[in-house]
Amino acid sequence: MPYVLSIDQSTQGTKAVLFGADGRLVAKTARPHRQIIQDNGYVEHDPAEIAANVTQVMREVVELSGIEPTEVAAVGISNQRETCMAWDRVTGEPLYHAVVWQCARAKELCAQLVAERPEAAQRVRELSGMNLSPYFSAGKMAWLVRNVPAVAAAAQAGTLALGTMDSWVLWCLTEGQAFATEPSNACRTQLYDIAAGTWSDELCALFGVPRAALPELHASDAVFGHTTAGGLFPAPVPVCGMLGDSQAALFGQGCVEAGQVKATYGTGSSVMMQTGARLVRSGAGLVTSVAGEIGGQRSYVLEGNINYTGAVVSWMKDDARLIGDPGDAELCARRANPADRAYFVPAFTGLGAPYWDDEATGLLTGVTRTTGHDEIVRACLESIAYQIGDVVDAMRADTGLTVDELRVDGGPTANGYLMQFQADVSDARVSVSSVAELSAAGAAQVAGLAAGLYHGHEVTDQIQRTLYQPAMEPARRARKLDGWRAALAQALHH
Ligand code: ADP
Repeated sequence: MPYVLSIDQSTQGTKAVLFGADGRLVAKTARPHRQIIQDNGYVEHDPAEIAANVTQVMREVVELSGIEPTEVAAVGISNQRETCMAWDRVTGEPLYHAVVWQCARAKELCAQLVAERPEAAQRVRELSGMNLSPYFSAGKMAWLVRNVPAVAAAAQAGTLALGTMDSWVLWCLTEGQAFATEPSNACRTQLYDIAAGTWSDELCALFGVPRAALPELHASDAVFGHTTAGGLFPAPVPVCGMLGDSQAALFGQGCVEAGQVKATYGTGSSVMMQTGARLVRSGAGLVTSVAGEIGGQRSYVLEGNINYTGAVVSWMKDDARLIGDPGDAELCARRANPADRAYFVPAFTGLGAPYWDDEATGLLTGVTRTTGHDEIVRACLESIAYQIGDVVDAMRADTGLTVDELRVDGGPTANGYLMQFQADVSDARVSVSSVAELSAAGAAQVAGLAAGLYHGHEVTDQIQRTLYQPAMEPARRARKLDGWRAALAQALHH
């Protein structure tokens, strides 16, 4: 029986997930890796540790499932986006740790770029679809070239490889045979022209990143190379699907038609709308990324990232001590007085999409004599749904498309009160996935299609869903949203 082995190389660890020919999830394993935090706050990962974990989890998932290694027909990869690293193409040795997406080391470099070239910000936005920011790989890669002598020397010698995590994992799996990436990862570097679908010479020159050091670009469902996974497979198996983790989750959720939206609730949230072949430039605070290039079609997304969603629940538990367990939030919210008008805005470190205010700070407002403990917990919980709802409204405004369903996943989706409230404030059905491994599922679906094992939506069709229908009376919904907007205005116009 053939199987697809999907690797999800994420920020916290590396998972291997095995899917059967019928699309069913058969087994999964995971290994964490070190979060290396330097004294100055720089965040790094050890590429060698991650490479070792990749082959280790592949071996473990095959052993755990009891299948024969010869039954693995295809390998897919999904990965943490924007994280990048430098290595030497001749020796294969990393020249520095991986610079993690969370790391702000390129902040000054980006600020200097804008100061020297005032038109830079606009050109970056036009070409890459995103605001110039140290969050993306370009600034991080430029930092490596400028600050690490071994990286500069390899660039001089023409042996430098600068890649995102997908290209590193691929390089290691193919033992240096393949140095390649694909559009859903490339577009998050900020060096990729999203309209042309190529590396941009102008952006490379602007950041001072040598284009010759970047990986080859292939479609997301290309045969990128072959792997024995360090001797696990007796015959090489094709690596034939790669996607950045958020886009992989979009495919894993089955969002393939324009207007379909997924929202991942984790610490923060990634909300994504598939826009198909249409490249939509946002006027409402979102960014444009490539969904992927599959079956010869390049498709696009609108994306909004929210800093604090599930983290609000963690904050209530660990910092404000309002609840003892994340599950308590639901009980409190259900007990709270429905007439209470308290609102909470979780601007712990400014506000991200779609508001964009680095200086905003959080607030609790609308407090009256009906406001007690449970009402405050409910206000905190509801702030998660309001923020996601605002990103969804920005997507509606940018595209003119109707959004009548949100496909959701992540820890906080266990909260039935929150899910119902999300459906109510967004006026859309909320569909909760039973499968947590959506990034792995999306990469497996693409790799399985490329290998000829799948022909439709085998993996995504296996997902069970719990549905929440919008049920709030329109007048109450309007009143609640007015209150949220008033609270938000106070946080934004500080
Ligand atoms: P990540 O992948 O970012 O670690 P997870 O999908 O594991 O995120 O979700 C973790 C978040 O979910 C935590 O912030 C936690 O507080 C929150 N969470 C877990 N269970 C619940 C619940 N029942 N209600 C609300 N939030 C919850």
